[in-house]
Amino acid sequence: MSRAEKLTDQILEKLKNSDVRVKREDILKRMRLLVEEFKVPESEAVKTIMNYLVKEYGVPREELFERESPLVKISEIVKPNQWISLKAKVVQLWDSNSPNVSQVGLIGDETGIIKFVIWAKAGMNEVEEGKSYLFKNVVTDSFQGRMQVNIGRTSKIVEISEEINLPPREMEIIGAIVSFQQNSGLIKRCNICKRVLSKGLCHEHGKVEGYDDLRVKAVLDDGLNSYEIILNEENIKELVGMSLEDAIRIAQENLDRNSVLSELKQRLLGRYFAVKGIRGGRYLLVRDISFHKPESKDFEELLEALV
Ligand SMILES: [Zn+2]
Repeated sequence: MSRAEKLTDQILEKLKNSDVRVKREDILKRMRLLVEEFKVPESEAVKTIMNYLVKEYGVPREELFERESPLVKISEIVKPNQWISLKAKVVQLWDSNSPNVSQVGLIGDETGIIKFVIWAKAGMNEVEEGKSYLFKNVVTDSFQGRMQVNIGRTSKIVEISEEINLPPREMEIIGAIVSFQQNSGLIKRCNICKRVLSKGLCHEHGKVEGYDDLRVKAVLDDGLNSYEIILNEENIKELVGMSLEDAIRIAQENLDRNSVLSELKQRLLGRYFAVKGIRGGRYLLVRDISFHKPESKDFEELLEALV
């Protein structure tokens, strides 16, 4: 393969996820002219042709040219529309309700946690909970007044082995669970991607058998703010002594999976909890949760906040 062909393919590689269709012969012809005929330095030739593609084919600039995206810490993310890179650990994956979204959840570093969205059109490999990655060329965004990072076509995700710690200082919040959100109780997940099934269907993999899981998505209110929290099987077991096996048995005895949800609501809704965790926007990543016996000062604070 000639040098001109190699350089041409390097440029086409950048466009493999692009909507724009570019003819290889067209690029190659120009590349040969520049490199072989006019002896233009290779880097200049590549830049010249990329500029040509932007002008003639309307390829978005950012698909061809690397973004200036400095490595930042999560606490430094305060403005939307900034191109950045960050090293972070995936701390929680949520269910994505939109076919446009591949994955959504929380990532964290030692300075904080933040919501992330990987768009389906980005064509990325999926990230895993507990693993750390370099998220390159991601863009900050503000959604409903909270910062998040969007991962799109021009971003890159590279798994890294370095250990990333979460913020050392966790806060304790005392509040009441004021509501349960969808997909709480005894749920079914896809065997392949772990997404929550909706009417037996996975968003990505269609009809699958699925496996059972127990969790609660809820809103915790401390009188000043409300936080979205997720309680996993372990949290639920510690709080109410119900394991996944118990939940399955309850569902079987009542011939109704919703009976698990009713039972959990009865025991958790409206009750006070002390939650230790890390806050990111309106989300609270639960590390530890226990029942809290409210004192009269809690009610006073709640009342004060309401007035
Ligand atoms: Zn699936």
